[in-house]
Amino acid sequence: MTPEQISHIINELGEDRARYYNAAAAPIMQTSIFTFPTTEELAEGLSHSFERNVYSRGQNPTNQILQKKLAALEGTEECLLFSSGVAAISAAVLNEVGAGDHMVMVDKAYGPARALAGKYLARFGVECSLADGKDPEAIAAAFRPNTKVLYLETPSSMVLELQDLTACAELARRHGVVTICDNTYATPLYQRPAEHGIDVVVHSASKYLGGHSDLVGGVVCTDGERARRIFAGEYLTLGGVMPPFHAWLILRSLRTLPLRMERHAATALRLAQWLETHPRVLAVHHPFLPSHPQYELARRQMQSGTGLFSFELDAPDREAIFSFCDHLKCFHRAISWGGYESLVCPTAASYNRQAQPSPYPWNLIRLHAGLEDPDLLQADLEAALAMVPATAATA
Ligand SMILES: *Cc1c(COP(=O)(O)O)cnc(C)c1O
Repeated sequence: MTPEQISHIINELGEDRARYYNAAAAPIMQTSIFTFPTTEELAEGLSHSFERNVYSRGQNPTNQILQKKLAALEGTEECLLFSSGVAAISAAVLNEVGAGDHMVMVDKAYGPARALAGKYLARFGVECSLADGKDPEAIAAAFRPNTKVLYLETPSSMVLELQDLTACAELARRHGVVTICDNTYATPLYQRPAEHGIDVVVHSASKYLGGHSDLVGGVVCTDGERARRIFAGEYLTLGGVMPPFHAWLILRSLRTLPLRMERHAATALRLAQWLETHPRVLAVHHPFLPSHPQYELARRQMQSGTGLFSFELDAPDREAIFSFCDHLKCFHRAISWGGYESLVCPTAASYNRQAQPSPYPWNLIRLHAGLEDPDLLQADLEAALAMVPATAATA
């Protein structure tokens, strides 16, 4: 997609300013219901609720502006907006499966997505196998005759593992399996799964699309037929829809998305390169470091990395990991990512080595590079690294 196309989508597409006094910013259509001049028109609206504004647990004009922009950015026909990323993921998955079906999910997918596909859907007779997403043959081996969905997330958000989107889409098509890909990390600016043949693209809008740590939201982008099926099914029935105020906040955030992404990406890559040379750092996971085992694949299917990456600290124990994180002044200790501010989150905060086995290294620390001055962030990391007690490896 050219910069002209991107800027047209972000600034113009879906906007109809003459209808709202030529205001530059679209109005927030804060209404639950839409009224009709005649009962005949009400009846007509009710029978076409995908196209018409009838009730805001359905279509809403503010949301529609955002839907058009996100669908165009992802290169899909339609987009639906949800109350959270998890609501979007659930709707996309539930639309494809029923009792007796099976799905395959990559083993490093977002935790709550794994919980949905594993424990939760088992109650409804849907089975799920986890597969190593790095290896298309492992994915193929997990397919069964009743497999309906292949669920991908590339890169994954903890260890930044990739899946080959073109290979996965071809494999799934041969088996009549629908592909769903979580594209939250890259945003449609840096990766467009639909161009590789992926059927459904999902996002947590709580990350870069929102971008200011002030909202939770989700997105499904797909073809028109499937979008209508999700709309009539999961969207209207489960009802986890995005309020128009949140759609408006995301519209505002989209205006600066290219600018923000450029800064997040440049700062993160610089910090990752620097950390790789630090003696207390055992490994750095960033898809655009040449040391990443899937660097070539990253360069083939993504335009760039973003602000999120992780590293393994040479620390003696869990306490030293926590203490390192506590010494940071610019990086806030928090989950999630994608906002203006830098964040740190060690896996040891969510997985206790004894009680709960973790799919990630125990000493893994995830960083989100925010929009602050990169020198400040590097100095902050340097000072905190200097405080980490020695281990056998460093002594
Ligand atoms: C945060 C996140 C989600 C879930 O989104 P919510 O908006 O928190 O429900 C899904 N996938 C990825 C990769 C995420 O980082």
